[in-house]
Amino acid sequence: MMAQYLSIKRAHPDCLLFYRMGDFYEMFFDDAVKASEALDITLTKRGRHAGEDIPMCGVPVHSHEGYLSRLIRKGFKVAVCEQMEDPAEAKKRGAKSVVERGVIRLVTPGTITEDALLDARSHNYLAALAEAQGGLGLAWLDMSTGDFQVQAVAAKTLGAAIARLAPGELLVSERILQQADLFELFRDWRDILTPLPAARFDSTNAKKRLETLYGVRALDGFGAFSRAELAAGGVLVDYVELTQKGKLPRLGAPRRLAEGAVMEIDAATRRNLELSETLGGERKGSLLSVIDRTVTGAGARLLAQHLSAPLTDPAAIGRRLDMVQFFADQHSLRADLRDRLRRCPDVERALSRLTLGRGGPRDLASVRDALGVIPGLKAVLRGGDLGVPPDGIEDALGQLGEHGVLVDRLARALDADLPILTRDGGFIAPGYHAGLDELRGLRDESRRLIAALQSRYAEMSGVAALKIKHNNVLGYYIEVPPKQAERMGEPFIHRQTIASSVRYATVELGELEDKIRSAGDKALALELELFADLLGEVTLRSEEIAAAARALAALDAASSLAELAVDRRYVRPQVEEGTAFRIEGGRHPVVEAGLSGAFVANECDLADTQRLWLITGPNMAGKSTFLRQNALIAILAQMGSFVPADAARIGVVDRLFSRVGAADDLARGRSTFMVEMVETAAILNQAGPRALVILDEIGRGTATFDGLSIAWAVVEHLHEVNRCRALFATHYHELTALAAKLPALSCHCMRVKEWQGDVVFLHEVGAGTADRSYGIHVARLAGLPSAVIGRAETILHSLEKGEQSSAVSKLADDLPLFAAAVRQTHTPSAPPAPSAVETALAEVDPDAMTPREALEALYRLKGLV
Ligand code: ADP
Repeated sequence: MMAQYLSIKRAHPDCLLFYRMGDFYEMFFDDAVKASEALDITLTKRGRHAGEDIPMCGVPVHSHEGYLSRLIRKGFKVAVCEQMEDPAEAKKRGAKSVVERGVIRLVTPGTITEDALLDARSHNYLAALAEAQGGLGLAWLDMSTGDFQVQAVAAKTLGAAIARLAPGELLVSERILQQADLFELFRDWRDILTPLPAARFDSTNAKKRLETLYGVRALDGFGAFSRAELAAGGVLVDYVELTQKGKLPRLGAPRRLAEGAVMEIDAATRRNLELSETLGGERKGSLLSVIDRTVTGAGARLLAQHLSAPLTDPAAIGRRLDMVQFFADQHSLRADLRDRLRRCPDVERALSRLTLGRGGPRDLASVRDALGVIPGLKAVLRGGDLGVPPDGIEDALGQLGEHGVLVDRLARALDADLPILTRDGGFIAPGYHAGLDELRGLRDESRRLIAALQSRYAEMSGVAALKIKHNNVLGYYIEVPPKQAERMGEPFIHRQTIASSVRYATVELGELEDKIRSAGDKALALELELFADLLGEVTLRSEEIAAAARALAALDAASSLAELAVDRRYVRPQVEEGTAFRIEGGRHPVVEAGLSGAFVANECDLADTQRLWLITGPNMAGKSTFLRQNALIAILAQMGSFVPADAARIGVVDRLFSRVGAADDLARGRSTFMVEMVETAAILNQAGPRALVILDEIGRGTATFDGLSIAWAVVEHLHEVNRCRALFATHYHELTALAAKLPALSCHCMRVKEWQGDVVFLHEVGAGTADRSYGIHVARLAGLPSAVIGRAETILHSLEKGEQSSAVSKLADDLPLFAAAVRQTHTPSAPPAPSAVETALAEVDPDAMTPREALEALYRLKGLV
């Protein structure tokens, strides 16, 4: 057996091997050590190998899913190895022969399909990254929906693309992993990486592989794929086949995500804006948690996907908004629709299990129940009172399709209470198949005959306490108390004596038992056959069922956004080409939802003439909230949702950047300041004219003058070079001096009222500059000792009178610093004539000097100052 184990293990070196032995999956050697630690289960030993004890641990088959899910979550891959024959068969071959075993699937984070291992409300993508002809290609697949997409990416936008997908597993070639420029990126994603040999990423093989899979001569019909995209797609399909041991789930045709089709949002921005989880890693408190009113798992997954990938095409966004509008305008239609959707089981995931041959009777019931809701849903959708429904609704009506025949058949075939597994039968309803009813009748009749036999035998033997019982070892047997045993003559055959009773068999009872068993076996075989028939029918219609499932999800997502819009007073945004950004009465969706009092709404207008807003104001005045709310409104609008505002007009944002808050990244050994600078660098290097940039408190993590200088230069760069819409919050009031020099810079501040020596934050954004930072007021509010507050006031007073302010006002005259980089016509001021020191310095040639000469030159220079 160990030889068999070792040979199977050798074929799956990177997986833990679940080796089936009777009612347990056992693990040995290193696997056992790792698993026992990860699962906190006992490590034992079994036998010896090469002179050493063999470590072993195991999990019961009936409850293995929980253990499996914990292992997968901890990043392990598991190979499930089953017994491929009845142990009795093996015994027949000889006492020492080993039961035949084989790996039936590999369970990896990106390829799971079981409900118990998946989060019902999030996608689980398997992704692959390939490189060919100097380009990168990304492919991803949701095993549970068959949704298969590819995208060409550049190295610098790869991080944003992976962050958008947040895949459960990312396949990469070992060669790409070694690329120095992607090192940081892969470090961020190391927990989900599955490195594969570079040879597996061959694009020519991949192309053939995909052509065979889809039965086409050329893939051009699906889109114009790059070599790298093909390679990634091919690897993905190969990997699925490998892990499913040859079985492929239903795969939709690969779709190509066009460049620029979605708003690019890098990982740091997603984190900072707390889109789908908070900085603390929780779903609650994220934007998603606030906007998600979906009532089905598939709807929740679609909504999360829309949020993670806002669109950039105003027409496509408009189509989504039309659907939301349709539901927002019709209250009772919406309520009725959502009631019906609530009854829809997760047919997407049931279908994927069924097509993978891993489904059971309850998955068939999910198909029946979900499709069964459709006729009613259609009637509701058609019953609207607002004239012609929008395209999206018409599309959904078409996709929902007609499934009456299948639903009817499943309804007749499936019993009321269904087991999870087909294994023991008992799921086909009576009346569905005459042959099955007959076999079951025979089985039940024999059971009745046995009951009748009991009273006949009791009478015959005169033992009133005689009982006929059943257990798994003896089958049916007759039992009497030991004292009555002498009465048991013919036809009773003694089988067993135990303390409390004596057990017998009879020929007649044996015959009846045979009848029951054979009828039962036949009934089970027939049930399995009927199951296979139903499964065949579902598989045959899998495309239509998947389309219906997609439509159900789309209806759920749109109607839930409508529910949100009505409930929280959101309005339809106007999304267009161009670079307008005008929000009237904007609110922060998450802060507003958590606030007991009223949220103070604010305007934001980043018109061309004032595309860069500089926002000053004390801590706690609401600067961050204002910044984030505008970014979130842009995301909501472009995902096709209504927005928390009185009105919104938004020119499509192609990339969103944020640098907010200061989360230390100690795990990666970077200080707050370093993180801040890395993120700022990315923004300044990448933001183009259609981007939206949110910058909060740049330069805070370093000394005041350092920080001010950096913030200063960043504002200039944004204004002169990036030329994008931007909100810049700062506590450096000195920066407002820039307004005089930068025409599109507009100063705003958070209104504050002083009242009886206290500060009241109004949370209102107004034009102009905050005259004080009120830091000392906040310090007082926080309870700093009054002696410290008093001393701070004195210091502030003397600093304000000191030299610093004049240095700053001088700086403002030195502009522009980015004359060379300015794209528009911009006359730089004439460079000043070189000073005496500069002239003298220019003449110095350090390479030709002795140390002594250098020292003398230094003294000379010093003398010139
Ligand atoms: P800052 O960035 O200026 O330090 P924050 O944006 O963090 O301030 O806001 C501080 C707190 O003030 C928030 O947690 C929120 O509770 C409250 N707040 C901010 N903006 C508003 C608003 N517009 N209306 C009501 N409360 C607000």
